[in-house]
Amino acid sequence: MLKLEGIHVYYGEVHALKGIAFEVREGELVTMLGANGAGKSTALMTISGILRPRAGRIVYEGQELTKASPYDIVKLGAIQCPEGRHIFGGLTVRENMLMGAVRRQDRRGVQEDLAWVCSLFPALEQRMGQTGATLSGGEQQMLAIGRALMARPRLLMLDEPSLGLAPLIVQVIFEVISQLHRQGVTILLVEQNARKALQVADRGYLLETGRVAMSGSVAELRADPQVESTYLGGARA
Ligand code: ATP
Repeated sequence: MLKLEGIHVYYGEVHALKGIAFEVREGELVTMLGANGAGKSTALMTISGILRPRAGRIVYEGQELTKASPYDIVKLGAIQCPEGRHIFGGLTVRENMLMGAVRRQDRRGVQEDLAWVCSLFPALEQRMGQTGATLSGGEQQMLAIGRALMARPRLLMLDEPSLGLAPLIVQVIFEVISQLHRQGVTILLVEQNARKALQVADRGYLLETGRVAMSGSVAELRADPQVESTYLGGARA
């Protein structure tokens, strides 16, 4: 479904991605692991068309996306839920969700998806009329995922959905990610919480200083001594 080949991305002189290659197949849940600054967010922003690679190719469902605009990429169903949530604090929960559906014309489908998101996150249903700013951090993360789902993603890219959340909320978020996977949504999950990510994913890539240091099935990654000592030994439960 998605293939990156030899992607190089720079921030000015900073060489953030140094020829990374990876793929996500339809229906898969693929996780991208790595420490702070490894290049995970940069990779997602490049797929979304927010950053332009200086070299390499991105192919999505047989179409080259390398030079496509973020708008076109969203239209193709590749939707990113950004790190830090970026919800609209002055808008209600309902309005935030509808922002995710802003380019859709199928009003009935939008209503169905609102109900779908509420069934995934019952906590949000009770807060539909409240402004985003009044939500807890966990609820804001649920809303950020809900808003992304309102765009009917074919490929959902989640950037650090567990960041800064209490363990109980992290559990809720990961249960929903698993549920979405079972429902057939293709997911690219960027996480520092390797332990949790490897519990839900099919395959994973390990990024280190802008390069893919390792890739494999979840079992292969878990069995690797370096992954175990660096990313699982000290990872959040
Ligand atoms: P984190 O979990 O902290 O977001 P990450 O793996 O997502 O880490 P990136 O944010 O993609 O890492 O950063 C990759 C590299 O690019 C790092 O060396 C970072 O310092 C650098 N970088 C990121 N954003 C910028 C920017 N706007 N300007 C300059 N350098 C940047």
